[in-house]
Amino acid sequence: MQLHQTPVVVIGCGVAGLSAAYQLADAGYLVTILAKEFPGENNIMYTSDWAGASLGFAAGGSFRARRVSQETFQTFWDISSRYAPEECGICRITQETYFDKKPDPSLIWYSKEAPDFRILSPSEYPAQYAFAVSYTSMTLEPPRYLPWLVKQVQSKGVKIMRVEVDSLRAALDHIPDAKAIINCSGIGSRYLKDVKDDAVFPERGQTCAIRTSFKKLIIRSGAEYTYLIPRPLSGLLILGGINEPFNTSPEPNPASREMFKQRAHKICPELGPVDQMEFVMDIVGVRSTRKGGYRLERQEGGKLPIVHSYGYNGGGYQASMGAGKEVVRLLRGEDSY
Ligand SMILES: Cc1cc2nc3c(=O)[nH]c(=O)nc-3n(C[C@H](O)[C@H](O)[C@H](O)COP(=O)(O)OP(=O)(O)OC[C@H]3O[C@@H](n4cnc5c(N)ncnc54)[C@H](O)[C@@H]3O)c2cc1C
Repeated sequence: MQLHQTPVVVIGCGVAGLSAAYQLADAGYLVTILAKEFPGENNIMYTSDWAGASLGFAAGGSFRARRVSQETFQTFWDISSRYAPEECGICRITQETYFDKKPDPSLIWYSKEAPDFRILSPSEYPAQYAFAVSYTSMTLEPPRYLPWLVKQVQSKGVKIMRVEVDSLRAALDHIPDAKAIINCSGIGSRYLKDVKDDAVFPERGQTCAIRTSFKKLIIRSGAEYTYLIPRPLSGLLILGGINEPFNTSPEPNPASREMFKQRAHKICPELGPVDQMEFVMDIVGVRSTRKGGYRLERQEGGKLPIVHSYGYNGGGYQASMGAGKEVVRLLRGEDSY
Protein backbone atom coordinates (compact mmCIF):
# COMPACT_ATOMS: atom_id res chain seq x y z
CA MET A 1 0.00 0.00 0.00
CA GLN A 2 1.28 3.46 -0.94
CA LEU A 3 0.91 5.91 1.94
CA HIS A 4 0.28 9.41 0.56
CA GLN A 5 -1.61 10.48 3.68
CA THR A 6 -3.01 13.31 1.57
CA PRO A 7 -6.18 14.60 3.24
CA VAL A 8 -9.29 14.58 1.03
CA VAL A 9 -12.93 15.28 1.78
CA VAL A 10 -15.82 13.23 0.39
CA ILE A 11 -19.29 14.79 0.36
CA GLY A 12 -21.98 12.12 0.69
CA CYS A 13 -22.34 8.94 2.71
CA GLY A 14 -24.44 6.87 0.30
CA VAL A 15 -23.00 3.89 -1.50
CA ALA A 16 -21.07 6.19 -3.90
CA GLY A 17 -19.37 8.17 -1.11
CA LEU A 18 -18.66 5.14 1.07
CA SER A 19 -17.21 3.17 -1.86
CA ALA A 20 -15.03 6.12 -2.91
CA ALA A 21 -13.83 6.42 0.71
CA TYR A 22 -13.13 2.65 0.81
CA GLN A 23 -10.94 2.81 -2.31
CA LEU A 24 -9.28 6.12 -1.38
CA ALA A 25 -8.35 4.80 2.08
CA ASP A 26 -6.90 1.66 0.48
CA ALA A 27 -4.86 3.92 -1.82
CA GLY A 28 -3.43 5.68 1.26
CA TYR A 29 -5.50 8.90 1.37
CA LEU A 30 -6.65 10.39 4.66
CA VAL A 31 -10.40 10.60 4.13
CA THR A 32 -13.17 12.53 5.89
CA ILE A 33 -16.80 12.03 4.80
CA LEU A 34 -19.24 14.90 5.34
CA ALA A 35 -22.93 14.12 4.88
CA LYS A 36 -26.34 15.21 6.02
CA GLU A 37 -27.95 11.74 5.87
CA PHE A 38 -26.73 8.30 6.81
CA PRO A 39 -27.81 4.67 6.30
CA GLY A 40 -30.94 3.50 8.08
CA GLU A 41 -32.52 6.90 8.70
CA ASN A 42 -35.62 6.25 6.57
CA ASN A 43 -35.27 9.30 4.33
CA ILE A 44 -36.54 8.54 0.82
CA MET A 45 -34.10 11.09 -0.65
CA TYR A 46 -31.17 9.05 0.73
CA THR A 47 -31.34 6.57 -2.16
CA SER A 48 -28.94 3.89 -0.98
CA ASP A 49 -31.30 2.54 1.68
CA TRP A 50 -33.96 1.55 -0.88
CA ALA A 51 -32.15 -0.45 -3.56
CA GLY A 52 -32.95 -4.10 -4.45
CA ALA A 53 -30.02 -4.61 -4.87
CA SER A 54 -28.89 -6.57 -7.88
CA LEU A 55 -25.12 -6.63 -8.46
CA GLY A 56 -25.07 -8.20 -11.92
CA PHE A 57 -23.17 -6.71 -14.85
CA ALA A 58 -24.59 -3.50 -16.35
CA ALA A 59 -26.05 -4.06 -19.83
CA GLY A 60 -24.21 -2.39 -22.72
CA GLY A 61 -22.47 0.90 -21.99
CA SER A 62 -19.19 2.58 -22.92
CA PHE A 63 -15.77 0.99 -22.48
CA ARG A 64 -15.38 2.82 -19.18
CA ALA A 65 -18.87 1.92 -17.92
CA ARG A 66 -18.03 -1.72 -18.58
CA ARG A 67 -14.75 -1.43 -16.73
CA VAL A 68 -16.53 0.19 -13.78
CA SER A 69 -19.14 -2.60 -13.79
CA GLN A 70 -16.49 -5.31 -14.09
CA GLU A 71 -14.31 -3.90 -11.29
CA THR A 72 -17.38 -3.60 -9.07
CA PHE A 73 -18.41 -7.18 -9.76
CA GLN A 74 -14.89 -8.42 -9.02
CA THR A 75 -14.67 -6.44 -5.76
CA PHE A 76 -18.03 -7.77 -4.51
CA TRP A 77 -17.00 -11.29 -5.55
CA ASP A 78 -13.80 -10.94 -3.48
CA ILE A 79 -15.71 -9.52 -0.48
CA SER A 80 -18.19 -12.40 -0.68
CA SER A 81 -15.23 -14.86 -0.66
CA ARG A 82 -13.82 -13.31 2.51
CA TYR A 83 -16.96 -12.52 4.57
CA ALA A 84 -20.02 -14.57 5.44
CA PRO A 85 -23.26 -13.36 3.79
CA GLU A 86 -24.76 -12.68 7.25
CA GLU A 87 -21.90 -10.30 7.92
CA CYS A 88 -21.58 -8.33 4.66
CA GLY A 89 -25.12 -8.82 3.30
CA ILE A 90 -23.92 -10.13 -0.09
CA CYS A 91 -25.18 -13.47 -1.48
CA ARG A 92 -24.11 -15.30 -4.61
CA ILE A 93 -27.09 -16.46 -6.65
CA THR A 94 -28.04 -17.52 -10.17
CA GLN A 95 -29.13 -14.64 -12.40
CA GLU A 96 -31.26 -15.16 -15.51
CA THR A 97 -31.98 -12.37 -18.00
CA TYR A 98 -34.84 -12.79 -20.49
CA PHE A 99 -34.99 -10.85 -23.75
CA ASP A 100 -37.98 -10.16 -26.04
CA LYS A 101 -35.68 -10.52 -29.05
CA LYS A 102 -32.14 -11.74 -29.56
CA PRO A 103 -29.94 -8.97 -28.12
CA ASP A 104 -27.07 -7.25 -29.83
CA PRO A 105 -23.89 -8.96 -28.46
CA SER A 106 -22.79 -5.58 -27.02
CA LEU A 107 -25.64 -5.85 -24.49
CA ILE A 108 -24.17 -9.07 -23.13
CA TRP A 109 -20.52 -7.94 -23.35
CA TYR A 110 -19.89 -9.74 -20.01
CA SER A 111 -20.32 -13.24 -21.47
CA LYS A 112 -16.60 -13.97 -20.98
CA GLU A 113 -16.36 -12.29 -17.56
CA ALA A 114 -19.44 -13.67 -15.83
CA PRO A 115 -18.93 -16.87 -13.81
CA ASP A 116 -20.82 -19.89 -15.23
CA PHE A 117 -22.20 -17.80 -18.12
CA ARG A 118 -24.36 -19.70 -20.59
CA ILE A 119 -27.09 -19.10 -23.14
CA LEU A 120 -30.21 -20.92 -21.96
CA SER A 121 -31.99 -23.36 -24.20
CA PRO A 122 -35.64 -22.44 -24.97
CA SER A 123 -36.94 -25.21 -22.68
CA GLU A 124 -35.31 -23.41 -19.73
CA TYR A 125 -37.22 -20.12 -19.91
CA PRO A 126 -40.84 -19.04 -20.52
CA ALA A 127 -42.04 -19.38 -24.11
CA GLN A 128 -42.91 -15.68 -24.51
CA TYR A 129 -39.20 -14.71 -24.64
CA ALA A 130 -36.82 -15.09 -27.57
CA PHE A 131 -33.49 -15.39 -25.79
CA ALA A 132 -32.12 -15.85 -22.26
CA VAL A 133 -28.76 -16.01 -20.50
CA SER A 134 -27.71 -17.20 -17.07
CA TYR A 135 -24.64 -16.71 -14.82
CA THR A 136 -23.63 -16.71 -11.17
CA SER A 137 -24.24 -13.21 -9.89
CA MET A 138 -24.80 -11.57 -6.51
CA THR A 139 -27.44 -9.62 -4.61
CA LEU A 140 -27.00 -7.39 -1.62
CA GLU A 141 -29.27 -6.30 1.23
CA PRO A 142 -28.67 -2.58 1.89
CA PRO A 143 -29.78 -2.78 5.57
CA ARG A 144 -26.96 -5.29 6.18
CA TYR A 145 -24.34 -4.09 3.67
CA LEU A 146 -24.31 -0.35 4.42
CA PRO A 147 -23.58 -0.70 8.18
CA TRP A 148 -20.88 -3.25 7.28
CA LEU A 149 -19.38 -0.81 4.76
CA VAL A 150 -19.44 2.04 7.31
CA LYS A 151 -17.51 -0.16 9.77
CA GLN A 152 -15.06 -1.16 7.02
CA VAL A 153 -14.21 2.42 6.09
CA GLN A 154 -13.93 3.44 9.75
CA SER A 155 -11.50 0.58 10.33
CA LYS A 156 -9.43 2.00 7.44
CA GLY A 157 -9.22 5.33 9.29
CA VAL A 158 -12.00 7.21 7.48
CA LYS A 159 -13.70 9.87 9.65
CA ILE A 160 -17.41 10.53 9.23
CA MET A 161 -19.12 13.79 10.23
CA ARG A 162 -22.73 14.91 10.00
CA VAL A 163 -22.54 18.21 8.14
CA GLU A 164 -24.81 19.81 5.54
CA VAL A 165 -22.95 22.04 3.09
CA ASP A 166 -24.49 24.49 0.64
CA SER A 167 -21.53 24.24 -1.75
CA LEU A 168 -18.55 21.95 -2.33
CA ARG A 169 -16.18 24.74 -1.26
CA ALA A 170 -17.97 24.97 2.11
CA ALA A 171 -16.49 21.55 2.93
CA LEU A 172 -13.17 23.35 3.45
CA ASP A 173 -14.66 25.24 6.44
CA HIS A 174 -14.71 21.84 8.15
CA ILE A 175 -11.59 20.20 6.65
CA PRO A 176 -9.31 23.18 5.82
CA ASP A 177 -6.27 21.03 4.97
CA ALA A 178 -8.13 18.93 2.34
CA LYS A 179 -6.21 18.76 -0.93
CA ALA A 180 -9.18 17.56 -2.99
CA ILE A 181 -12.98 17.39 -2.83
CA ILE A 182 -14.87 14.29 -3.93
CA ASN A 183 -18.50 15.02 -4.77
CA CYS A 184 -20.74 12.00 -4.09
CA SER A 185 -23.83 14.00 -3.13
CA GLY A 186 -26.31 12.23 -5.44
CA ILE A 187 -29.38 14.40 -5.93
CA GLY A 188 -27.57 17.08 -3.86
CA SER A 189 -25.60 17.97 -6.99
CA ARG A 190 -28.70 19.61 -8.41
CA TYR A 191 -28.71 22.11 -5.51
CA LEU A 192 -25.11 22.68 -4.35
CA LYS A 193 -24.29 26.30 -5.28
CA ASP A 194 -21.05 25.51 -7.12
CA VAL A 195 -22.40 22.42 -8.93
CA LYS A 196 -26.04 23.19 -9.85
CA ASP A 197 -26.19 20.33 -12.33
CA ASP A 198 -29.64 20.59 -13.94
CA ALA A 199 -29.08 17.28 -15.73
CA VAL A 200 -29.59 15.50 -12.38
CA PHE A 201 -33.18 15.07 -11.31
CA PRO A 202 -35.18 13.04 -8.78
CA GLU A 203 -36.82 9.89 -10.12
CA ARG A 204 -39.10 7.93 -7.81
CA GLY A 205 -38.75 4.16 -7.62
CA GLN A 206 -41.09 1.70 -5.94
CA THR A 207 -40.71 -2.02 -5.35
CA CYS A 208 -42.40 -4.53 -3.05
CA ALA A 209 -41.14 -7.47 -1.03
CA ILE A 210 -42.90 -10.82 -0.80
CA ARG A 211 -41.95 -13.75 1.41
CA THR A 212 -40.83 -16.80 -0.57
CA SER A 213 -38.02 -19.33 -0.70
CA PHE A 214 -37.48 -18.56 -4.44
CA LYS A 215 -33.78 -17.74 -4.87
CA LYS A 216 -33.13 -16.85 -8.54
CA LEU A 217 -32.49 -13.28 -9.69
CA ILE A 218 -34.54 -12.71 -12.84
CA ILE A 219 -34.42 -9.65 -15.05
CA ARG A 220 -36.81 -9.12 -17.92
CA SER A 221 -35.11 -6.83 -20.41
CA GLY A 222 -37.05 -4.81 -23.01
CA ALA A 223 -40.76 -3.98 -22.82
CA GLU A 224 -42.32 -4.38 -19.36
CA TYR A 225 -38.88 -4.13 -17.74
CA THR A 226 -39.28 -6.24 -14.58
CA TYR A 227 -36.99 -7.66 -11.94
CA LEU A 228 -37.14 -10.26 -9.18
CA ILE A 229 -34.28 -9.80 -6.71
CA PRO A 230 -33.93 -12.38 -3.93
CA ARG A 231 -32.84 -11.52 -0.40
CA PRO A 232 -32.05 -15.06 0.73
CA LEU A 233 -30.89 -13.93 4.19
CA SER A 234 -34.34 -12.49 4.93
CA GLY A 235 -36.45 -14.97 2.92
CA LEU A 236 -37.69 -12.12 0.71
CA LEU A 237 -38.02 -11.45 -3.01
CA ILE A 238 -38.04 -7.83 -4.23
CA LEU A 239 -40.37 -7.24 -7.20
CA GLY A 240 -40.04 -4.13 -9.31
CA GLY A 241 -40.00 -1.65 -10.57
CA ILE A 242 -40.87 1.78 -11.93
CA ASN A 243 -39.24 5.16 -12.70
CA GLU A 244 -41.30 8.31 -12.09
CA PRO A 245 -39.37 11.49 -12.97
CA PHE A 246 -39.79 14.42 -10.55
CA ASN A 247 -42.14 12.47 -8.26
CA THR A 248 -40.82 12.52 -4.67
CA SER A 249 -43.91 11.17 -2.91
CA PRO A 250 -43.08 8.68 -0.14
CA GLU A 251 -46.55 7.10 -0.43
CA PRO A 252 -46.55 3.61 -2.01
CA ASN A 253 -48.92 3.26 -4.94
CA PRO A 254 -51.03 0.06 -4.49
CA ALA A 255 -51.63 -0.14 -8.28
CA SER A 256 -47.85 -0.32 -8.86
CA ARG A 257 -47.57 -3.07 -6.24
CA GLU A 258 -50.27 -5.11 -8.05
CA MET A 259 -48.51 -4.56 -11.37
CA PHE A 260 -45.20 -5.87 -9.96
CA LYS A 261 -46.92 -9.00 -8.65
CA GLN A 262 -48.75 -9.61 -11.97
CA ARG A 263 -45.57 -9.20 -13.97
CA ALA A 264 -43.58 -11.40 -11.61
CA HIS A 265 -46.19 -14.13 -11.93
CA LYS A 266 -46.04 -13.90 -15.74
CA ILE A 267 -42.26 -14.33 -15.70
CA CYS A 268 -42.20 -16.91 -12.98
CA PRO A 269 -45.50 -18.84 -12.52
CA GLU A 270 -43.87 -20.97 -9.79
CA LEU A 271 -44.30 -17.98 -7.44
CA GLY A 272 -47.96 -19.01 -7.31
CA PRO A 273 -51.15 -17.00 -7.94
CA VAL A 274 -50.92 -13.27 -7.31
CA ASP A 275 -53.57 -13.29 -4.57
CA GLN A 276 -51.61 -15.91 -2.65
CA MET A 277 -48.26 -14.10 -2.69
CA GLU A 278 -47.29 -13.22 0.89
CA PHE A 279 -46.85 -9.45 0.76
CA VAL A 280 -44.36 -8.08 3.31
CA MET A 281 -43.68 -4.42 2.52
CA ASP A 282 -43.54 -1.66 -0.07
CA ILE A 283 -40.22 0.09 -0.69
CA VAL A 284 -40.12 3.66 -2.04
CA GLY A 285 -36.97 5.65 -2.79
CA VAL A 286 -35.92 8.53 -5.01
CA ARG A 287 -33.08 7.88 -7.45
CA SER A 288 -30.64 10.55 -8.58
CA THR A 289 -30.96 10.17 -12.34
CA ARG A 290 -28.78 12.14 -14.75
CA LYS A 291 -29.54 12.92 -18.39
CA GLY A 292 -26.60 11.56 -20.39
CA GLY A 293 -25.50 9.13 -17.67
CA TYR A 294 -23.54 9.35 -14.46
CA ARG A 295 -20.85 11.97 -13.90
CA LEU A 296 -17.48 10.47 -13.03
CA GLU A 297 -14.91 13.11 -13.89
CA ARG A 298 -12.22 15.43 -12.59
CA GLN A 299 -12.88 19.15 -12.65
CA GLU A 300 -9.95 21.57 -12.72
CA GLY A 301 -9.95 25.32 -12.61
CA GLY A 302 -10.32 26.09 -8.92
CA LYS A 303 -7.75 26.02 -6.13
CA LEU A 304 -8.32 22.32 -5.54
CA PRO A 305 -9.16 19.43 -7.84
CA ILE A 306 -12.73 18.20 -7.59
CA VAL A 307 -13.75 14.68 -8.59
CA HIS A 308 -17.46 14.15 -9.25
CA SER A 309 -19.10 10.75 -8.77
CA TYR A 310 -22.92 10.99 -8.87
CA GLY A 311 -26.06 10.49 -10.96
CA TYR A 312 -26.12 6.68 -10.81
CA ASN A 313 -29.86 6.26 -11.39
CA GLY A 314 -30.83 2.59 -10.88
CA GLY A 315 -27.27 1.23 -10.95
CA GLY A 316 -25.42 2.85 -8.05
CA TYR A 317 -24.52 -0.45 -6.37
CA GLN A 318 -23.56 -2.10 -9.68
CA ALA A 319 -21.13 0.78 -10.28
CA SER A 320 -20.07 1.52 -6.69
CA MET A 321 -16.70 -0.10 -6.08
CA GLY A 322 -15.47 0.35 -9.67
CA ALA A 323 -16.46 4.01 -9.55
CA GLY A 324 -14.49 4.29 -6.29
CA LYS A 325 -11.39 2.94 -8.07
CA GLU A 326 -12.00 5.39 -10.91
CA VAL A 327 -12.16 8.26 -8.37
CA VAL A 328 -8.67 7.26 -7.18
CA ARG A 329 -7.35 7.17 -10.77
CA LEU A 330 -8.90 10.56 -11.55
CA LEU A 331 -7.44 12.06 -8.40
CA ARG A 332 -3.99 10.74 -9.25
CA GLY A 333 -4.36 12.15 -12.76
CA GLU A 334 -3.96 8.69 -14.25
CA ASP A 335 -5.34 7.91 -17.67
CA SER A 336 -9.08 7.36 -17.52
CA TYR A 337 -11.56 6.60 -20.30
C1 LIG B 1 -36.35 1.29 -5.62
C2 LIG B 1 -34.88 1.31 -5.99
C3 LIG B 1 -34.26 0.13 -6.42
C4 LIG B 1 -32.90 0.14 -6.77
N1 LIG B 1 -32.30 -1.04 -7.14
C5 LIG B 1 -30.96 -1.06 -7.46
C6 LIG B 1 -30.31 -2.27 -7.83
O1 LIG B 1 -30.92 -3.34 -7.85
N2 LIG B 1 -28.97 -2.22 -8.15
C7 LIG B 1 -28.27 -1.05 -8.12
O2 LIG B 1 -27.08 -1.05 -8.44
N3 LIG B 1 -28.88 0.13 -7.78
C8 LIG B 1 -30.19 0.15 -7.45
N4 LIG B 1 -30.81 1.33 -7.11
C9 LIG B 1 -30.06 2.59 -7.27
C10 LIG B 1 -29.13 2.87 -6.11
O3 LIG B 1 -29.84 2.78 -4.89
C11 LIG B 1 -28.56 4.30 -6.27
O4 LIG B 1 -27.97 4.43 -7.56
C12 LIG B 1 -27.50 4.60 -5.23
O5 LIG B 1 -27.98 4.32 -3.94
C13 LIG B 1 -27.07 6.08 -5.30
O6 LIG B 1 -26.12 6.28 -4.28
P1 LIG B 1 -25.49 7.70 -3.99
O7 LIG B 1 -24.46 7.49 -2.95
O8 LIG B 1 -25.10 8.35 -5.28
O9 LIG B 1 -26.71 8.60 -3.43
P2 LIG B 1 -27.40 8.63 -1.98
O10 LIG B 1 -27.52 7.28 -1.40
O11 LIG B 1 -28.65 9.42 -2.12
O12 LIG B 1 -26.37 9.44 -1.07
C14 LIG B 1 -26.14 10.83 -1.25
C15 LIG B 1 -25.41 11.35 -0.05
O13 LIG B 1 -25.09 12.73 -0.26
C16 LIG B 1 -25.45 13.46 0.90
N5 LIG B 1 -25.71 14.86 0.54
C17 LIG B 1 -26.47 15.34 -0.47
N6 LIG B 1 -26.47 16.69 -0.45
C18 LIG B 1 -25.70 17.07 0.60
C19 LIG B 1 -25.32 18.32 1.16
N7 LIG B 1 -25.75 19.47 0.64
N8 LIG B 1 -24.51 18.34 2.26
C20 LIG B 1 -24.08 17.18 2.81
N9 LIG B 1 -24.41 15.96 2.33
C21 LIG B 1 -25.21 15.91 1.24
C22 LIG B 1 -26.68 12.74 1.42
O14 LIG B 1 -26.94 13.10 2.78
C23 LIG B 1 -26.20 11.29 1.26
O15 LIG B 1 -25.39 10.92 2.36
C24 LIG B 1 -32.16 1.35 -6.72
C25 LIG B 1 -32.79 2.53 -6.28
C26 LIG B 1 -34.13 2.50 -5.89
C27 LIG B 1 -34.77 3.77 -5.40
